[in-house]
Amino acid sequence: MANKVRYITRLDQIDKLSDQEKRTLGPVAEKFVFKTNDYYMSLIDWDDPEDPIRRIIIPHRRELEMGGSFDPSNEQAFTVLPGLEHKYGSTALMIVSDTCDGICRYCFRKRVFQGSSDERVKDISAVIEYIKEHTEITNVLLTGGDPLCLATDRLTEIVSALRDIEHVEIIRIGSKVPVFNPYMIIEDESFLEMIEKYSLPQKKIYIMTHFSHPRELTDVAAKAITMMQKAGAIITNQCPLIRGVNDNPDVLAELLRKVSFAGAAPYYIFQCRPTIGNEAYIVPVEEAFDIVQLAKQQVSGLAKRFKFVMSHSTGKIEIIGKTDELIYFRYHRAQEEENSCRLLAFRLNPDAAWFDDYDEPVEDYSMDMSSHSCQWS
Ligand code: SF4
Repeated sequence: MANKVRYITRLDQIDKLSDQEKRTLGPVAEKFVFKTNDYYMSLIDWDDPEDPIRRIIIPHRRELEMGGSFDPSNEQAFTVLPGLEHKYGSTALMIVSDTCDGICRYCFRKRVFQGSSDERVKDISAVIEYIKEHTEITNVLLTGGDPLCLATDRLTEIVSALRDIEHVEIIRIGSKVPVFNPYMIIEDESFLEMIEKYSLPQKKIYIMTHFSHPRELTDVAAKAITMMQKAGAIITNQCPLIRGVNDNPDVLAELLRKVSFAGAAPYYIFQCRPTIGNEAYIVPVEEAFDIVQLAKQQVSGLAKRFKFVMSHSTGKIEIIGKTDELIYFRYHRAQEEENSCRLLAFRLNPDAAWFDDYDEPVEDYSMDMSSHSCQWS
């Protein structure tokens, strides 16, 4: 089916949408790129106007509400070469593709799909040279867009060049192809051979899948996961918490169970970023925290190894607890050393959708790294 998948990039190609819907959503699809395919569309229940798969892929009129930023995590500030971000010492991030096999409506990198974007790696040798010179970089994340949308030869060229760098231990590939078009994996022997060749016993390739709703994990998607595992990849799953998709504890619990059963260990759940056009998809932080906790209570330990985080410009901030008055955050990964492990408490603000929506902290502890007891003070 890989070559038979029919891509859909215009609303008038969708019979199931009424003329009125096409007229209403036309301006949205003009503003933010629309792309899907008939496999993924077959997962939609068109009798349900609130269908979660539909919500992931079909434009929504509220995307035209402004607010937010095109670069909510300020990635531009950490871009050291075109397409290369170096925010945390040991990790480099390469934007290798400026398309995906479908476009999630809530994408925080929708800016790279705009025609004017110039954020993809162009000069791979300059990027490889930078990583060679920075021996502190032990893991490299290939992302985009979707790296699996590159020709396999091109992806292999990048992975091979990274594997030649002694200090690069882990290569991560973030991809929603196992969700949007798992046939592409099942039928691409050269991709699986690439994994087999470069995922080494002590230097693995990780594939970070993006299952957001349990219905996305079809039999064919599970088969794609299995084939990548057999080829030697480690599979983990990450997704944002999205209004109307997985903002129900039972649905989220089912997703966590299903991905863990399939061997795609839940890694991160992200607070949806305040990206332009994302207003309708955002669940406020405190409500999202409750949903995550209620889902966690329903699943086994293996399904709740993930962290619920905000990818803020200052670092990955984990949302760790809530009382009647306060909400607690801890830096899971900090861009500045002084924020490392920092623990913060803020007065509750049920409208807050992002870290910046909270006022001054009422408690603020730094980790004393000099002591062996790791005390906050
Ligand atoms: S798969 Fe990821 S990068 Fe691609 S549109 Fe969805 S969220 Fe954005």
